[in-house]
Amino acid sequence: MTQFTNTLEFAKSLDAHDVLAKYRQEFYFPKLNGKEAIYLTGNSLGLQPKTALAALEQELEDWKNYGVEGHFHGKNPWFHYHKFLTEKAAKVVGALPHEVVVMNNLTVNLHLMMVSFYRPTATRYKIIMEAGAFPSDQYAMESQVRFHGYNQEDAIIEIAPREGEYHLRTEDIIDTINKNAGETALIMFSGVQYYSGQAFNMEAITAAGHQHGITVGFDLAHAAGNLLLKLHDWNVDFAVWCGYKYLNSGPGGVSGVFVNERFANAPELPRFAGWWGHKESERFLMKKGYIPEYGAAGWQLSNAPVLTMAVHNASLSIFEETGMEALTTKSKTLTAYLQYVLEQSGKGLKIITPEQRGCQLSILTDANGKALFEHLQKHGIIADWREPNVIRMAPTPLYNSFEDVWRVGEVLKGY
Ligand SMILES: *Cc1c(COP(=O)(O)O)cnc(C)c1O
Repeated sequence: MTQFTNTLEFAKSLDAHDVLAKYRQEFYFPKLNGKEAIYLTGNSLGLQPKTALAALEQELEDWKNYGVEGHFHGKNPWFHYHKFLTEKAAKVVGALPHEVVVMNNLTVNLHLMMVSFYRPTATRYKIIMEAGAFPSDQYAMESQVRFHGYNQEDAIIEIAPREGEYHLRTEDIIDTINKNAGETALIMFSGVQYYSGQAFNMEAITAAGHQHGITVGFDLAHAAGNLLLKLHDWNVDFAVWCGYKYLNSGPGGVSGVFVNERFANAPELPRFAGWWGHKESERFLMKKGYIPEYGAAGWQLSNAPVLTMAVHNASLSIFEETGMEALTTKSKTLTAYLQYVLEQSGKGLKIITPEQRGCQLSILTDANGKALFEHLQKHGIIADWREPNVIRMAPTPLYNSFEDVWRVGEVLKGY
């Protein structure tokens, strides 16, 4: 581990040696009090890439000039627009291109995946998930078990941290899987827990589930673009993520889906179908009888929302350029430096995020947490507050600097 020093010179020297430093210029930073903010909420809504506007304008131009013919004659024909994104998105999550498709929004995709991969039987109908999951995921799981006629109190097994602990031990997760294997149909976890910032051991959880023939899926909302993911190698069954957090694709932006290639040609698998998932070569024959396209693309329903996809495509191009290895390498040092600076501030801040993490640190505050949060805001730092008492800070390796992190420490000293 790098030996850190809590000085501006030191932070600047790390920035000078940062191969990703130049990407900061590729994003717009919001202003607070007339000055560029220190933006630490890329985990919630990533910043706007400067390339987004031109990408959007291209599609508006083609729509203006071609109308419906843009489906075939535009610069980037809309007929197979999703394909422009597939390979780039696959690289972000460590998948083969035919295992990935970009479509819809996150919670929608979670439900679509559950239609195919939560298939309860009389004996095996339970879902194992982390306690305190992001509310949308809790609601999705609850409504899915009810949809299948089960009682959520009985059908959902939540794993909580041990007394006095803030994150889950992998051994406890695997223990719960082993103990409930006979009744479990699905294991559904987040990749990075939104509240604690813990990165789960997806490979171990998947292996433990598969040992018992249980399907394993992940919600990667806080993991995509943040962790080095290897969904294919880990043999994950399915995953979903959103484009607007670490992937910087704008509010409500499109979502990505991973379906393991073991299911690429599985027309017998139940799914909710729509014309865009139909075998592409026959999509416009308008025939009766649904034949799914090969791979994850066979889960599409609707024609591509080209405008939000254009922004996502522009953003994914940046990730393609940097690669996830370089990003995660910087991320580890940047986040370790934030931890160091927080500890050095002398404010007794309690970080509940474990070593297994992405770039987010969650700080558990006392009764004065809101005041601390407001102090940060007043001094140009955009972090976020999560009820009941956590401040989250996520220095993202793509556009945050070591100097940003050092400044957080200075602002804390003034509190
Ligand atoms: C951000 C987030 C969501 C949001 O869902 P949308 O459908 O994009 O609104 C859902 N689940 C998790 C785990 C998240 O972090």
